[in-house]
This record gives sequence, structure tokens and C-alpha cells, in this order.
Amino acid sequence: MCLFCRIAGRELPTELLVDEPDVLAFRDINPKAPTHILVIPRKHISSLASAEAGDVELLGKLMLTAQRVAHDAGLRESGYRVVVNTGAGAGQSVFHIHLHVLGGRSLRWPPG
Ligand code: AMP
Repeated sequence: MCLFCRIAGRELPTELLVDEPDVLAFRDINPKAPTHILVIPRKHISSLASAEAGDVELLGKLMLTAQRVAHDAGLRESGYRVVVNTGAGAGQSVFHIHLHVLGGRSLRWPPG
């Protein structure tokens, strides 16, 4: 079963920073920055490539949740990056759509 569906279903013990009926957030297990939080929908959408027009409200909620966890982590002034890897060729390894919220260090552009 999908790893993030298992986290959403509380089958895997994971501290949740956001636990709402439609959206969750938790720390990345292998952080790439001092702050690295993942924001996911409970609904299984395998990637951004699979999102549909009916998901528009949920996608907006994911973005505002990313904003909230970043601000709660103290990143409002310093800045932060929100990343959605889409497809294996772009680095996606878990096929349940998720936003990476990264901050707490200098972030170069373009990403590698
Ligand atoms: P991506 O490579 O964009 O699909 O991102 C998947 C992310 O999930 C990676 O940054 C992993 O470190 C992270 N990850 C994998 N398993 C877990 C887990 N059990 N709890 C938290 N984060 C995880």
C-alpha cells in the first residue's frame, strides 16, 4: 500500500504537524534542509500529473498549509521553497502527491 496513505491511516507512527480531515503535514525522514516538512492530502493522488480539475480546492489547501507550516517554523522572513517533484525523472520517489517545504539554509537556484 502507498507509504503516505499508511501515514495518513496512522499505520506508520509519524508525528503530525498538521492533522486535518483533508490535509496532513509531517517532517521528512531524510531532511535536505534544517526545516524539511512534507504536506500531503489524505486523498491518494499519485502525482501532480494525475491531479484533476476537481482537485483545485484541495491543491489550494495544500499550498496554504505549506505557507502555514513554513511560517510556524519561523521561515516567513528568511524565505522558504515549496517543491513538487513530479515523475521519477524529476526525483519523485513516493507516488502520493506531496509538497516539500524547505528552509533554514541558503537555497540555490536553479536546483540540481
Ligand atoms: P519525493 O522524492 O519527492 O517523492 O519525496 C519523498 C520524500 O518522502 C523524500 O524526501 C523522503 O525522504 C520522504 N520520506 C520517505 N519515507 C518517509 C517517512 N516514512 N516519513 C517521512 N518522510 C518520508
